[in-house]
Amino acid sequence: MTDINQIMEQAHAGFLTNCETTPQQRADFLAQIATEIEGLGDELIHAAMRETNLPEARFLGERGRTCGQLRAFSQLLLEGSWVNAVIETAQPDRAPLPKPDMRKVDIAMGPVVVFGASNFPLAYSTAGGDTASALAAGCSVVVKGHPSHPNTSRLVAGAILAAGEKCGMHSYTFQHVEGDSFEIGKALVQHPCTAAVGFTGSLKGGRAIFDYGQQRANPIPVFAEMGSTNPVILLPEILSTEAESLGKKLAASVTMGVGQFCTNPGIILAVDSDDVQTFVASLADSLSQSPSFKMLNEGIHHNYLARISEIQDVGLLRVLYKSSDETDLKAPPMVATVDSKTMKSHPTLHEEVFGPSTLVVLCSDLDDMVSIWKLLHGQLTTTLFGTEADLLKHAILIDTAKHLAGRIVFNNVPTGVDVSAATVHGGPYPSSTDSRFTSVGMDAVKRWVRPVCYQDCPDQLLPATLQNANPTGILRKVNGQYHRNAIN
Ligand code: NAP
Repeated sequence: MTDINQIMEQAHAGFLTNCETTPQQRADFLAQIATEIEGLGDELIHAAMRETNLPEARFLGERGRTCGQLRAFSQLLLEGSWVNAVIETAQPDRAPLPKPDMRKVDIAMGPVVVFGASNFPLAYSTAGGDTASALAAGCSVVVKGHPSHPNTSRLVAGAILAAGEKCGMHSYTFQHVEGDSFEIGKALVQHPCTAAVGFTGSLKGGRAIFDYGQQRANPIPVFAEMGSTNPVILLPEILSTEAESLGKKLAASVTMGVGQFCTNPGIILAVDSDDVQTFVASLADSLSQSPSFKMLNEGIHHNYLARISEIQDVGLLRVLYKSSDETDLKAPPMVATVDSKTMKSHPTLHEEVFGPSTLVVLCSDLDDMVSIWKLLHGQLTTTLFGTEADLLKHAILIDTAKHLAGRIVFNNVPTGVDVSAATVHGGPYPSSTDSRFTSVGMDAVKRWVRPVCYQDCPDQLLPATLQNANPTGILRKVNGQYHRNAIN
């Protein structure tokens, strides 16, 4: 039986040491993790392929992304400004009261528990974005490995531990916990030493874990990235010229990774017309040429079949294409159309279908389309396809889009999330439990820190980031001005 108490007390000891390491030490550690993961070579790629039914090319790409992400956080640490240092120097003569010297900086929160995602065994799992950003922040990390890819997770955990040893990190900076009992995850979240949680998966799972975090005597932040239907809007002019190619493009996005992406375009909205019918025919035709591929595991396959059958049970739905090949974990691609009235009255159609399926909603006019768009819950992404004239004419749509989703995509599919300093992978609930943060990109680190203010602290006792001489040379906001200068 896993001793959660011991693991979390160890994680606390690991945190107390990791948060005092220099940025250079942590940067070296993250870069070394990337090197160790690459050093696993084909063994890792083959383990991931065996445990997920996904092809080699996918894991070559995902490994590159995982290592690129680790190295990007390493660079972030070396640059250093991510700690958001703000300094307001004292004004002893200020009337009616003197102003004290106030300096604030972000510090690591404590041990972080990470629930790896089943659908990204490398990039969102054991050494994925949550782990990389939490280690960068100076937290310790306990990963609850996903039972869907235990060997992959074990290999990556071994790489992190080997990197830790080579870089002289505390032995409990990182720990890996296995087991497929919810009790383990629950106990990790509820343990008093746990300071924050990162999760990627289902709405049901994410919500349960969020609730454990809030029900504690001392509630903690739980950053869960959950389901999304990623509504796509097709505007009239682009449909009049590109209906067929849009059908092909969206079909490729719907079937990418056997539809097992949180950014899968699950709902497509358009005003009904002959052009939309051309688009739908092209989409259905492209899907009919896509074979049924195996899904990640039995649970996900079962959920997918149950959801597409639930959707088909809604009357007035027109299934344009559904493969019948669903044996041996295979996911039949499906596309259906529905009228806007039926869409409005059946909330089940608004929810995520995790697999290669999409629903085209045929609206009576633009207002009708916007009213459905607004009915949908918070989203990771929403997409607008339109010519320049379409977009300018319907610029008002961007106001709806920005209140609905974390990322607005113009004239491209939502699948494929670039890791950058400007990426937002999060959004209003239920796409995530905290729309102020992102789980992908450099700002993911902000989830694991809290600001601390030092008031009238002697200079030599301040953290280096706040000292007058600015020995780390980071960009700071000093008396309202951003610069890297020392304070005289
Ligand atoms: P999941 O069921 O949400 O599980 C993810 C992780 O959370 C697992 O490690 C699981 O524990 C843990 N967990 C879930 N419920 C819990 C609870 N009540 N208490 C404690 N721990 C709990 O996700 P999944 O297994 O990856 O896939 C299931 C479904 O999730 C899919 O069919 C799909 O619908 C959805 N999904 C969505 C996304 C997305 O990005 N939107 C990604 C993946 C999956 P165990 O390890 O003990 O099982």
